[in-house]
Amino acid sequence: MEKLKATKVGKANPESYSRIRVKDVEIGEGHFTVTAGPCALESVEQALATARAVEQAGARIFRGSIFKPRTSPYSFQGLGREGVDLFRLVQQETHLLVETEVLDPRHIEWVAEHVDLLRVGSRNMDNFELLKEVGRTDLPVILKRNMSATYEEFLLAAEYILAEGNENVILCERGIRTFETYTRNTLDLLAVPAIKELSHLPIIVDPSHGSGRRSFVASASRAALAAGADGLLVEVHPEPEHARSDGFQSLSLPEFEHLMNELRRLAAVLDKKM
Ligand code: PEP
Ligand code: MN
Repeated sequence: MEKLKATKVGKANPESYSRIRVKDVEIGEGHFTVTAGPCALESVEQALATARAVEQAGARIFRGSIFKPRTSPYSFQGLGREGVDLFRLVQQETHLLVETEVLDPRHIEWVAEHVDLLRVGSRNMDNFELLKEVGRTDLPVILKRNMSATYEEFLLAAEYILAEGNENVILCERGIRTFETYTRNTLDLLAVPAIKELSHLPIIVDPSHGSGRRSFVASASRAALAAGADGLLVEVHPEPEHARSDGFQSLSLPEFEHLMNELRRLAAVLDKKM
């Protein structure tokens, strides 16, 4: 691969990796930083119940989409602009950082005023104008791999953000399309060591979209930690069976707490701070 800003220089050692610091939260080599929350924000009650529980369990960043890129235009599209006040409530009620997905370059400036990190979803990994626009902000960006992107295409998408001057990119493996249909996507965990070989950027794993099944989320999460990932992006809902999107792959609050307890034990063995 050509020499790029995203390319790692030198041999693999802790100093050859970038760490991203957002307020008091560190993301990168040596840390395992968990981002958790609902697929989509739905109400004040849902956002706050989830935020309080995931903070209590040890998550550092709250996820919640207000703009949803749904396969069908008739599915719930998110709360939209009205949802943005929920981030302020979560910030007031917890110490969590907050992140959300941006779909439209016209929303970025306004959304950036309300969150600590921006997320570019899988379907927009190669939306180059959106990438350039998030590259012009000073917020860290979680960039999700497109379901059919190679590692090289993934890193070149990150390069679009870095090239605009924003060096705070967190890559996220979220599963790729294969012939298998039992799982929603095939989680490509080798993306973690591969990206660590090619790039200095942190890489986290989304075990929720990566499996599409609640029963696999814990296995995928433990495997991600063991594979060297720098964190997770997990969907959690107070009532998964009533979620307006992705309830079938969302953990309940007690399930998330149980998983975090397991991960903490594993992280200690692997010398990762959680
Ligand atoms: C999400 O994390 O909310 C999401 C829509 O996932 P992806 O972009 O990976 O499909
Ligand atoms: Mn989802």
